[in-house]
Amino acid sequence: MEYEAVIGLETHVQLKTHSKMWCGCANIFGSDPNTNVCPVCLGMPGVLPVANAEALKLTVLTGYLLNCEIPPFAKFDRKNYFYPDSAKNYQVTQYDRPSTAKGWVEFEFDGPGSVDGMSRVRITRAHLEEDVGKSTHFDRHSGVDFNRAGVPLLEIVSEPDLNGPEMTYAYLKALTDILRRGGISDCDLEKGMLRCDVNVSVRPKGATQLGSKIEIKNMNTFSGVRRALEYEIPRQIEAVRRGESLRQETRRWDEVAGITETMRSKEDAHDYRYLPEPDLMPFVPTEPWLEEVRGRLVELPLARKRRFMGEYLLPSGDAEVFRDHLELGAFFERAAAGYKNPKAIANLVINNLQAHLVESGFSVTELKMTPAAVRELVELVESGKISSKIAQEVFREMATSGEPPAAIIDRKGWLQVSDISAIEALCQAAIEANSSSSADFRAGKVAALNFLKGQVMKVSKGKANPSLVGEILERKLRE
Ligand code: ADP
Ligand code: MG
Ligand code: ZN
Repeated sequence: MEYEAVIGLETHVQLKTHSKMWCGCANIFGSDPNTNVCPVCLGMPGVLPVANAEALKLTVLTGYLLNCEIPPFAKFDRKNYFYPDSAKNYQVTQYDRPSTAKGWVEFEFDGPGSVDGMSRVRITRAHLEEDVGKSTHFDRHSGVDFNRAGVPLLEIVSEPDLNGPEMTYAYLKALTDILRRGGISDCDLEKGMLRCDVNVSVRPKGATQLGSKIEIKNMNTFSGVRRALEYEIPRQIEAVRRGESLRQETRRWDEVAGITETMRSKEDAHDYRYLPEPDLMPFVPTEPWLEEVRGRLVELPLARKRRFMGEYLLPSGDAEVFRDHLELGAFFERAAAGYKNPKAIANLVINNLQAHLVESGFSVTELKMTPAAVRELVELVESGKISSKIAQEVFREMATSGEPPAAIIDRKGWLQVSDISAIEALCQAAIEANSSSSADFRAGKVAALNFLKGQVMKVSKGKANPSLVGEILERKLRE
């Protein structure tokens, strides 16, 4: 019997806000322990939370970016548990009435169920909660750093639509690309801004019923998620093949040993005794407020790639460069607007301009040349006024002086010579000066023509129109 994996992710990301969720403490990483704290995030008795308006906006914005519905009514709940990382002994979250629900993420992944190389994962919900403190080992004792406590956290729950390690990896990549581009979260894994719980089960291929869910808790790297699944899926399949029945449990990934191991079984599951948060009003967004949030929607990476392919007829590789480099893409768009051959401009921007940025350390806004000048340069090549070799020289000049290409060409006398009689004279001279090559060509050595062509180009300092040179040489040699 063949088995298949079924995977669903609960992804937690820290929202990109200046302050924490319920107080004015800074939401920053890397401060000395317990320096960004106050009575509210330390859970002192008698304090009251005030919801961070920006966090609410980012949550709903995420809903829009993930194609979710935004329910007209949402509320906060307390999830009760006793553990040192929570000074309040509960975590505020959204239990039964989340701020967003029922969306989907589309991403490039080819596999079972994909259409034209695109896969879709349904999003159950994305709800707002607060992060908790961090158990930390200090010099001579252990303690808790509460700088992270109360940082706004978004939990994005997917439906069990993922089918393996690679698809899960691609989904996480796509999700974080969306969140970064949308300004929701930096998703900096090294700063612990993203953590996910990986739920995985196996079942006979094609079965409709789900197998027992195993949850691998607190993964904080994409490669860790992939490796954990590469280990866990065969483990479950082998167990089922042996006739064991898997039981729902929570496991931990041991990065060093490369295995998962039992943390707790279903019987030890916590009873969180969720109850509505009495200190916070339900959240009922108004239409103008939602409108304002929608005003912050941006073009997402996938849509951008598709647009560059559709609008400018660029190949996917070029479109990906502009998908990832916003400023370079904007420069290209300004240069290519209305131009008949955008690919020629893309070539110059991707090859020459990008290399120049790397070499000079300039950002696109610090460039000396304008998009119009780049278009002009491409036009000069395409209309045969300068050779592509000369264009390289002109580009170098433009990069340092900022002069428009026509002025540079004029000053240097680089206009391509297409004057037939001038080129004929140069060709004649080259044939006479290199009689052995000429003889070689006449004897059938076709490569000798390239040598002669090179000679003419050299004498003309690269200005002779190379295709004319080739034609004239050949004609003369065959005369
Ligand atoms: P719980 O109530 O235990 O948190 P949920 O139903 O909320 O479980 O699901 C949590 C996550 O687990 C979701 O991402 C969901 O897609 C995924 N999931 C649920 N059941 C399964 C299963 N049998 N196999 C794999 N993933 C599952
Ligand atoms: Mg859950
Ligand atoms: Zn605080």
